Amino acid sequence: MRCLSSSAAPFQPADPASRGGMASQQLSSRTREFDHFVVVDFEATCERNSKIYPQEIIEFPAVLVDAATGGLVASFRTYVKPHHHPRLTAFCSELTGIQQEQVDGGVDLATALARHDEWLAAAGADKNRLAVVTWGDWDCRMLESECSFKGLAKPAYFNRWINLRIPFKAAFGAERRNLQEAVREAGLQWSGRLHCGLDDARNTACLLSELMRREESIKKEPSPPEPEPELQVQQQLSPANQNFRWCVGGAAATDCCCYCGVAVIGDVVKTPGPMQGRCFFSCGNWTPLGPMCSFFLWAA
Ligand code: AMP
Ligand code: MG
Repeated sequence: MRCLSSSAAPFQPADPASRGGMASQQLSSRTREFDHFVVVDFEATCERNSKIYPQEIIEFPAVLVDAATGGLVASFRTYVKPHHHPRLTAFCSELTGIQQEQVDGGVDLATALARHDEWLAAAGADKNRLAVVTWGDWDCRMLESECSFKGLAKPAYFNRWINLRIPFKAAFGAERRNLQEAVREAGLQWSGRLHCGLDDARNTACLLSELMRREESIKKEPSPPEPEPELQVQQQLSPANQNFRWCVGGAAATDCCCYCGVAVIGDVVKTPGPMQGRCFFSCGNWTPLGPMCSFFLWAA
């Protein structure tokens, strides 16, 4: 599958030979860290204007992207049969395009996860060298929550993810955008049906490729003066956060994001000792097992 720009010119993958060497750009610095990106976009049981509890994943799609070229390598989809609310609401079918027969013929979540693992292996993706990419944080949190209440083991690569909203915002400065608006704003043609999981994942993969391509072209422009060595270290410390220098310089880091791309949380040391009363900022992606990343910053 190719990604089309709105002028219908086919996407040209970046030259694989130009891989690496982009420490100040978050996606491109990750092309050295990872061989593949796996873009996922789950669909789940839902109802109009009310919450279904517990919500369950009903479509499990993924698109594999070559982290060196931005090329779309392979795709995967399985429908998942919901256990707690087996009948889809009319609203859910209308929103996602998923029919009752498709989930009736679906597998359970454990099987879907196992098949996804097998697909990754068959596509040649090394699980230790891939990063999950999603539009927002909902998908990985949904998987975490469902695996947790169903007592399922979740593959470790789903523990961390790249929230594509963060590099999109850095590139376009745009605040709240849904996926379709973001794709169009990036000059790409939307393809398929919004809220069809596989179409959402393909469009997200195209947006990822486009953001990688833009970073490549920034790299090829004349370089700005080298930053001070101390600042370079700070940027590398916070790859997901383009405003990190401002955060360090100012007393308020509340508008910053941690490495996971989630807004940081501020707190005060309460434990008696020399640091008691000091303010700090840490990972906003807090889970019952602790923070999802190692972001930590003392307030100025
Ligand atoms: P998305 O990836 O945006 O297609 O949405 C993922 C899931 O979020 C859907 O499968 C629904 O379960 C839920 N969802 C999205 N939009 C709505 C909506 N307008 N009302 C209720 N649930 C929604
Ligand atoms: Mg979707």
